[in-house]
Amino acid sequence: MKWAPVIGLEIHIHLKTKTKMFCRCELEYGAEENSRTCPVCLAHPGTLPVPNARAIEMTILLGHALQCEVVERSVFHRKHYFYPDLPKGYQISQYDQPLCVNGRFALADGSEVGITRAHLEEDAAKNVHMGGSGGRIAGADRTLVDYNRAGTPLVEIVTEPDLRSSEQAKRFLQLLRQTVVELGISDAEMEKGSLRFDVNVSIRPEGSDELRTRTELKNMNSFNFAAKGIEREIKRQIGIYESGGEVEQETLHFDPGNESAPPLRSKEEAQDYRYLPEPDLVPLVPGRELVERLRGELPELPGARIARLADELDTDLAEGLVTSGRDRLFEQVPGERRAVANVLMNQWAATGVDPAAVDADELGKLIEARDRIPRAAFTEALEATGEPGFEAERYLADGQIEATADLEPLVEHVLAANPSQVDDYRGGKEGLLGFFVGQVMKETGGRANPKLVNELLREKLKA
Ligand SMILES: [Zn+2]
Repeated sequence: MKWAPVIGLEIHIHLKTKTKMFCRCELEYGAEENSRTCPVCLAHPGTLPVPNARAIEMTILLGHALQCEVVERSVFHRKHYFYPDLPKGYQISQYDQPLCVNGRFALADGSEVGITRAHLEEDAAKNVHMGGSGGRIAGADRTLVDYNRAGTPLVEIVTEPDLRSSEQAKRFLQLLRQTVVELGISDAEMEKGSLRFDVNVSIRPEGSDELRTRTELKNMNSFNFAAKGIEREIKRQIGIYESGGEVEQETLHFDPGNESAPPLRSKEEAQDYRYLPEPDLVPLVPGRELVERLRGELPELPGARIARLADELDTDLAEGLVTSGRDRLFEQVPGERRAVANVLMNQWAATGVDPAAVDADELGKLIEARDRIPRAAFTEALEATGEPGFEAERYLADGQIEATADLEPLVEHVLAANPSQVDDYRGGKEGLLGFFVGQVMKETGGRANPKLVNELLREKLKA
């Protein structure tokens, strides 16, 4: 039987507000542990939450980007569970009345992924596992808690199970990440934990539209690991069904180190969060004027730019440029479109130069001349494109020391500087030619035409 994967995502994004969701503590990644806390985010009795207006605006903006409906009335709930990272004993989240619902997000391949909801909540504190191996809970001998993260505004985006392959899931995540970064609402950096996601995976016979038991993959720390983890989980489920078994609903903790996914907890232990409306917060009723103003603030989104660029490039190249944040530069750099795109995605990408620091016209001149410059000199020039006042001309001139008139003085200089080697050569040690060639190349930073240098040297040494 042929099997078809069914994949859905839950993505958590830290919002880039100045302060926390329900108090005025500053958000600062990397600040000294427990230095950004107050009675509200430490859950002292008698304190009251005050919602961060900017976080609400950012969530509405994201809702527009995801083509969601922004509801007229949204409610915060208390989601109860007991864990050291949660001082109140509950998380303020949104339950049955999230702020944004029923959206969709178009991928570069033309498919659309349904967005079930995007809601606002607060993050928990961070547990830091000490001792044992690699900061993991297993084997740790103690756990410290850093409450700086407690109360960070967090948006949770839940998709419909519309994704059909690990590759598609990866591309969705890349495009979504680029979108939130460009909206200016999050750094969305996985290594800082400001972008986290879980993946729900099930399979079904191809052509069927049933939804079978799904498993949840947690602890994904890169898009590539996610793709690998999904692949492996699809294979595991196929193996179970084909040997006559049933997939159990469980949460799997992906370990990229050994590519295993041990179960965290099974359905029997699934938690009842006892959701209650948060009595200390009034329902959230975003003004229609605000909602419309924010709609008007939407920039041209990455998805739309991919579609536009795919007309002149292929889709993969267009998608690569946009999701790597290089397409704005691409549009400014003059020259043959495909050549410019390829250099930006390959040699130039490897330099790590910030696109914002580049003079597009100068980069265009360099790319246009790339076949006339030695490879090493071209790479060096690309690396210099981010420097203030970069001029391609200098590298083009340097890169093409092909004229006899330019090389002759250099050759003469090298010979004058090495009189004893010249005597030895003329005395019959012709192997020294390589030495002279090397000296000239050194003088020119490797940019001289070696064939011409050889010819010139032979000629001058004859005398
Ligand atoms: Zn606080």
